[in-house]
Amino acid sequence: MPLDWTHAVRTDLGRVRETNEDAWLADPRIGAFGVADGMGGHAAGEVAAGIAADTLLETLRRLPPDARAEAARQALVEGITRANERILAEAEREPGRAGMGTTVTVLVLLAEGRWALGHVGDSRAYLLRNGTLRRLTEDHTWVQGLVEKGRLSDEQARLHPRSSLLTRALGTEARVSVDIQDGELAPGDRFLLCSDGLTGMVPETRLSEIAREEDDVESLSERLLSAALEAGGTDNVTVLVVSVQGDQ
Ligand code: CA
Repeated sequence: MPLDWTHAVRTDLGRVRETNEDAWLADPRIGAFGVADGMGGHAAGEVAAGIAADTLLETLRRLPPDARAEAARQALVEGITRANERILAEAEREPGRAGMGTTVTVLVLLAEGRWALGHVGDSRAYLLRNGTLRRLTEDHTWVQGLVEKGRLSDEQARLHPRSSLLTRALGTEARVSVDIQDGELAPGDRFLLCSDGLTGMVPETRLSEIAREEDDVESLSERLLSAALEAGGTDNVTVLVVSVQGDQ
C-alpha cells in the first residue's frame, strides 16, 4: 500500500501579540511534521520553539526511510529530550533567555503505514478520519487536571482564565517526560497539528465542522487560521494540516 501525503501550514502573529513565538517543522520527504509554541520574554520563546523544531528535524532525518514505528518512537523521545537539554543550556548561557520554554507536538508518518507522535505541552494533534475529529494529545495544563477530575468540562477549561498554565514543557526541568503513541495510517486520513492560539479561540465542534467542509489542505489551513483570527486572535496561531493519500 504505497502512501503519499501533502501538507499546508499557516502561522500568524494574531491580533494582539507583537511577536510570533510559534514555530513549525515540515519535511514531507521523511514524513515529519510538528508545531512548537514558545514562551519567555525578549523573544526568547521564539528561540526555544526554534531550537525544538530544528532539533527534532535533525534527529528525525537520521531515521532510515523504512523505519518502523518503534524506531520512530525512540527517535521522538531522543529528539525531544535533546531539544530540552539544548534549551536549558541556551537559557543558562544567555541570561536574557532564562526561563524560556516551549511545547512540542511532532508527527512522523511511516512508509510501513503507521504514524508516531511525540508530545509535550498544550499544542495539539488531531486525526480526522471518516468525518470524525479525534484529539490524539492530552494537554499538559493545570485546567486539564481539573477536566480529568470531572471538575471542568472541556469547554470550561478552554475558556478558563488560566487555561494556558502548563504543567509540562521543554526548558523547565532537567528531565522531560514525553508522551509517545503510534497508530495505523489509512488513505484519507488527515492530521491537524496546532498551537493553542487555534484551540483556545475556536471550539472543537467548530474545528470539526470546518474540517468536514474543506478537503484541500491549503483551504482547510486557511479556514482554520481565519476562524482563530475572527474569534479574536489573542495569541499566535499555527495550523499544520497533513493529508494522506494512497490505494488500499
Ligand atoms: Ca500559544
